[in-house]
Amino acid sequence: MAVIIDGKKIAEKVIDNIKKEVDLLERKPKLAVILVGNNPASEIYVRNKQKMALKLGFDSVVLTLPADISEENLLEQIYILNEDVNINAILVQLPLPAHLNKQRILEAIEPLKDVDGFTTHNFGRLSLGYFPCVVPCTPKGIVRLLDEYDISLEGKKVLVIGRSNIVGKPISLLMQNRNATVTMAHSKTKNLEELILSNDIIISAVGITNIVNQVSKGAVVIDVGINRTENGLKGDVNFELVSENASYITPVPGGVGPMTIAMLMENTLELFKIQEKLLF
Ligand code: NAP
Repeated sequence: MAVIIDGKKIAEKVIDNIKKEVDLLERKPKLAVILVGNNPASEIYVRNKQKMALKLGFDSVVLTLPADISEENLLEQIYILNEDVNINAILVQLPLPAHLNKQRILEAIEPLKDVDGFTTHNFGRLSLGYFPCVVPCTPKGIVRLLDEYDISLEGKKVLVIGRSNIVGKPISLLMQNRNATVTMAHSKTKNLEELILSNDIIISAVGITNIVNQVSKGAVVIDVGINRTENGLKGDVNFELVSENASYITPVPGGVGPMTIAMLMENTLELFKIQEKLLF
């Protein structure tokens, strides 16, 4: 049976270390979260981020803006936060209402405050392997989990299922930077099952339950998916079946999820430290 990768425990360790560091700081890092509209899932995510930031002793502000805000007004709010020397990190909660141009909004964030790493500046640096750059939280959390369990990536065959800008693409870059051989699958991929069986590490970021049902003996399985079902929260992976063959597997909940928020806090602290050196 597979070892269950305990994301909750590792996330708590990260959070404890951040807290110790923050306790010693005179000025506290400040995270600004922009929430547009009232998507219930987004409201929960933002509340959890705010709660964690305050628990760590960060300053935190949530700007709740109406769903029908114009693009210009939203951009104006971002410019104000960009200019505010007391704000170290800016996050725009996704998804945005359909009338807003996501690309234009995310690009407006000052790269030094881009805590999610979604601007072309940070994403470009990540693609080119130029460090430091802000690494998106979920992919960063996955790499941290693999490191914590001493799972080596060099020379490994990694299959990333899903090619979104927030998970699939950045995690594939991070895997390549660690000398893994990466295959990316998406909705048009043929023979997904064959690919799953022929890779050493499977990272699924799709949002469909049971898309991974069988893996090769000893495979490492990272389940990013979050699917709300009548039986509660489920990942993309058929956990019971797959853990029979896998060597390591992340559960849902309690795997990648807690790491995402821990990495958001870590990125906030990192941006704060960079800015302190630059500005003061
Ligand atoms: P997304 O933007 O909807 O992307 C989903 C990806 O899955 C797309 O690239 C899509 O392919 C691909 N896909 C769809 N059907 C497929 C199929 N049948 N076979 C193979 N690939 C398929 O989603 P996302 O934002 O990356 O999120 C993915 C999942 O992770 C969601 O469940 C989300 O809730 C979860 N998530 C969890 C965390 C966390 O902290 N745990 C963080 C972020 C996201 P195309 O490109 O061809 O459409």
